[in-house]
Amino acid sequence: MSKDWVNEDWVNGLDVTTPTVVTGGGGFIGGHLVAQLRSLGFDQVRAVDRKPVDEWYQHFDDVDSQVLDLGHPDAARTAAEGMGYVFHLAADMGGMGFIEKNKALCMLSVLSSTNMLVAARDADAQRYFYASSACVYAEDKQTDADVTALREADAYPAMPEDGYGWEKLFTERMARHFSEDFGLQTRVARYHNVYGPSGTYDGGREKAPAAICRKVIAAKLSGRHEIEIWGDGEQTRSFMYIDDCVEGTLRLTASECRKPVNVGSSEMVTINEMVSMCEKIAGVTLERRYKLDAPLGVRGRNSDNELIAAELGWEPSIRLFDGLERTYAWIYDQMMSPSSAPSSAAPQVPVLSATP
Ligand code: NAD
Repeated sequence: MSKDWVNEDWVNGLDVTTPTVVTGGGGFIGGHLVAQLRSLGFDQVRAVDRKPVDEWYQHFDDVDSQVLDLGHPDAARTAAEGMGYVFHLAADMGGMGFIEKNKALCMLSVLSSTNMLVAARDADAQRYFYASSACVYAEDKQTDADVTALREADAYPAMPEDGYGWEKLFTERMARHFSEDFGLQTRVARYHNVYGPSGTYDGGREKAPAAICRKVIAAKLSGRHEIEIWGDGEQTRSFMYIDDCVEGTLRLTASECRKPVNVGSSEMVTINEMVSMCEKIAGVTLERRYKLDAPLGVRGRNSDNELIAAELGWEPSIRLFDGLERTYAWIYDQMMSPSSAPSSAAPQVPVLSATP
């Protein structure tokens, strides 16, 4: 992770001597969060994931790395034991191709989410962060590619993304009631499409930026200058670079804001525009083939950042092109030495879609 944005002012209010656990620490965002906590001087960091440690994207010898399936209450208790800050990021998730075909699996994350809330309450945790998603937003507010950016209130009346989005909205609600009824200090971020190095780029769970980078690199290396795009490519999204995601996570956790907040970029692009950016980075032009019957998710989605700006005096600002350049470079290195990075164990499906 780059350190150029580190400015410790933004974690004022968090105490680096407080024992801290990150669930999903073997995953993409969790791995970067653990790395950043270390950089900031947190001296007792625990990372928990159900994957074997050799499949984690990032692993550090000075971090207490534990392999636990948080779907079991005892495992959640072990994860939270003695911890002051709890960051709950573990979830079964992936790009649209994954979540549309695995709704039950996504909803089963409610077990780990419930177990972690109970365990954090029983451990008297001081702060509890939950990684929610823009997939909580009502589908009827996202039918147009030229979408009005989503405000936090747009989650209700509820009609979220089937499966994955319902679990996220339910868990948000549960976090609110753990706060009101039990006094647990919960913070909830609605992440919008996070991307960056050290994450899934193949195997079926990858999301659009990584999938596009991979496909452009493969086309460039093979000399077959074509690319398959799901839908007509005119669906819109915003994408947040991982450094902004981690910074927003820590800023929100340090803040007094108890409402769910969008943590996302407000730079909206079409999938076609993102492909063009990747082509520019790669120095190639590809023939585009559109797969119109592929899973697409909502037609348009963007993050309204008025609330985060008001609450935190900050919002994600890393430009998509800049983040894509770094992501492309990392994926290129992985593809040149494929054994160096784990990829998802999920079955291979072609993914080039918009993402949750
Ligand atoms: P990821 O798949 O890379 O990481 C999630 C990790 O959770 C995985 O390593 C997985 O093994 C682990 N996990 C799943 N179930 C578990 C269980 N029962 N016990 C222990 N570990 C378990 O995903 P990510 O992109 O790093 O996402 C992190 C969080 O952010 C998730 O909650 C996700 O829903 C949320 N989110 C991500 C995005 C995004 O664009 N990446 C967008 C919105 C929300």
